[in-house]
Amino acid sequence: MAPPKARRKSSARGNDVRSLKRKRDVEDLEKLQQQVENLDPKSTQITDFSDLPLSHPTARGIEASHFKTLTDIQAKSIPLALKGKDILGAAKTGSGKTLSFLVPVLENLYRQKWTELDGLGALIISPTRELAIQIFDVLRKIGRYHTFSAGLIIGGRSSEEERKSVGRMNILVCTPGRMLQHMDQTAAFETDNLQMLVMDEADRTMDMGFQSAVDAIVEHLPKKRQTMLFSATQTKKVSDLARLSLRDAEYVSVHEAAASATPATLQQYYVLTPLPEKLDTLFSFIKSNLKAKIIVFLSSGKQVRFVYESFRHLQPGIPLMHLHGRQKQAARLDITSKFSASKNSCVFATDVVARGLDFPAVDWVIQLDCPEDADTYIHRVGRTARYERAGKAVLFLDPSEEEGMLKVLEQKKVPIQMTKPRQKKQQSIKNQLQNMCFQDPELKYLGQKAFSCYTKSIYIQKHKDIFNLSSYDLEGYAASMGLPGAPKIKFLKGDDSKKIKNAPRAMLSSDVESEAEEGSKKPKKGEVRTKYDRMFERRNQDVLSGHYSKMIAEDEPEKADDGLVDADEDKDFLSVKRVLSVDGDSSEDDEEAAAGPAARVIEGIGRAPIVIDSKRKEKLLKSKKKLLKLKEKGQKLVFDDDGVPHQMYELEDEAAFHERGPIEAQRAKFLEEETARTKQADVDDKQLAKDKKRQKREKKKAREAAERDGIDEDVAPQLVDTGEDPLALLASLPLDGEEEEAPAPAAKRPKRWFEDASDEETKAPKKKKRRVIEAEDEPETLEDLEALAAGLLQ
Ligand code: ADP
Ligand code: MG
Repeated sequence: MAPPKARRKSSARGNDVRSLKRKRDVEDLEKLQQQVENLDPKSTQITDFSDLPLSHPTARGIEASHFKTLTDIQAKSIPLALKGKDILGAAKTGSGKTLSFLVPVLENLYRQKWTELDGLGALIISPTRELAIQIFDVLRKIGRYHTFSAGLIIGGRSSEEERKSVGRMNILVCTPGRMLQHMDQTAAFETDNLQMLVMDEADRTMDMGFQSAVDAIVEHLPKKRQTMLFSATQTKKVSDLARLSLRDAEYVSVHEAAASATPATLQQYYVLTPLPEKLDTLFSFIKSNLKAKIIVFLSSGKQVRFVYESFRHLQPGIPLMHLHGRQKQAARLDITSKFSASKNSCVFATDVVARGLDFPAVDWVIQLDCPEDADTYIHRVGRTARYERAGKAVLFLDPSEEEGMLKVLEQKKVPIQMTKPRQKKQQSIKNQLQNMCFQDPELKYLGQKAFSCYTKSIYIQKHKDIFNLSSYDLEGYAASMGLPGAPKIKFLKGDDSKKIKNAPRAMLSSDVESEAEEGSKKPKKGEVRTKYDRMFERRNQDVLSGHYSKMIAEDEPEKADDGLVDADEDKDFLSVKRVLSVDGDSSEDDEEAAAGPAARVIEGIGRAPIVIDSKRKEKLLKSKKKLLKLKEKGQKLVFDDDGVPHQMYELEDEAAFHERGPIEAQRAKFLEEETARTKQADVDDKQLAKDKKRQKREKKKAREAAERDGIDEDVAPQLVDTGEDPLALLASLPLDGEEEEAPAPAAKRPKRWFEDASDEETKAPKKKKRRVIEAEDEPETLEDLEALAAGLLQ
């Protein structure tokens, strides 16, 4: 490692100092290497970070971050990892797993003298953006004295610059979908050199939701590397280990022998609350814990939004927040940091924050909706009682869930005891909710969505012995939300229920309802639609309630980002719980995925982040494509007999023009020809219009006849369809040389208030069928009145 002679320009003295330092560095490094080799993880007693053979930059970074003694998992796994072993690390929530992999990442690259030129050395995969950000923050803290470049690749944003810088990163923290996108699309991105792959919350990153993305990422990586998997609910599934080509990995578990799977400092309770009492109990609980920091878990984003919106109106006296995967990334970040910083507040959240997040000093974790399984339970309650702190958790159970849930919790060694809400403090908010829903149709609409989301989430649960939809008091639940009756649930009627039940979740997740369409209301197959839904849709389309549009808008933009689906989807059906990736489908929390743009790179430890807006870029990309399409069309040329190409319209040679006679005569002749042509066209047009009118009349008659026979009761659309459409004529004007063409397709008409894309005339019979499915038994007078009114407004 002698310095190159050619560069010796500075003073001889400065040079000596430098080469001396370099020599010392080399010696230090060799010493460190030796120490690591000599390290015997089994026999050495290691309690403090200072007992470990660590480089100066890491040791200083750890000290500056005020870490001194190692936690159990750190003491067990770091020595092995320093020696290059593959690790399967299992330790309770909040026990310090993050440092268990970050320290070895820094050290092992350091000892290999990794530089910017070596490219990507370590890749850390997280199932959610928030967790990735948190890991990245810890990396920046303890890695502040290193010179590695490190980046964050998560959904939500993107840019060309990111693309450029991603190739220069030594360490990347990422979510799977977005990472894969870069591997596929960024040419300068070399992964051949990679030394270490880390998966945090490994059981989650390895599960179905991320399977295809993770597999594809791993395919890009060299087989010979160090792999480390960490989770509080680690699995040793052989198939997973094979997928990652783990080489005789060390299984490091610090709680396997422990009495419980949850932290000893965590007190866990459950309350038996029949579904209709749930909101009352929650509200009463919050009211009597106004000085606490509380996380409330719900099963879907819709549930989160409804409870958040309604409780906000009730002003319990504690700051309320809400978090779910369909919020804009910026809002999500803002809320997570606000909640982190707050002393007393209550956040309603989906499982998007169930894993890994280290909010400081959370007092209570409330599970309002029962978790889908014991692992989810363990991760949710793990948001409190972290690193030796105390914490409390309450699980709300419907009596029908009690037996089954307690059984699976016991199997997983979760100590939980029953408690009862204090009757004295119990208050009912049913009347208030009812009033609010009555006065605020948007809230009611949200409530209906939340209700159907909840029921669907129960319906698709895999633990059928815990969740049995027929044993819940759904009517009572709807009433407790302030809804006028439970929205009808189509899948309960049974026609396609079997299909839903048997379909793999991955498939279910994909197409049932894409959130973005929520605003436009085009019902899809399998969606539960009620009369109320339709009523409110109309209102939203025409009367345009600003507040409601905002509520909806808040959620929609995320859609484009998603590729994979993650756990807590709030897309109605399937998204309610964990959802799985379907190629090209949208997801939520890892979100990003292939199609989804969006990433954010922060270059260089300790340096300011470069943030780029991905959506804009994506749009640009799209429009460029469009542009390309246009360009590729090229020009239409005509060839003459000699094969010489000409433009379609070429300026005539002046001499040739004069040859054909005097200008005036030519003009008169041209006018005459054109007049005759338009006359003929007029006649054709009139005939066409007549035909159309006749067709419409016939259709109307047929419909009326059918109606008299009681076949179709859907009156509203006819009201408009019968009248002559003034635009029909325009739309049906034949183009030159197309006189024989059929009347222009109805699609050219502007859409009317009741229409959606499938409402075109041509598809009328289909529409009829769909309507029949949706229709409720109740009389539709109000709706019809509304329809009429809206028609008149138009
Ligand atoms: P896990 O990933 O196991 O859930 P984290 O790595 O998020 O846990 O750590 C939980 C908390 O414990 C964090 O706030 C972290 O700063 C703290 N922590 C981790 N290791 C130590 C340590 N050795 N000493 C003190 N605090 C630690
Ligand atoms: Mg963690």
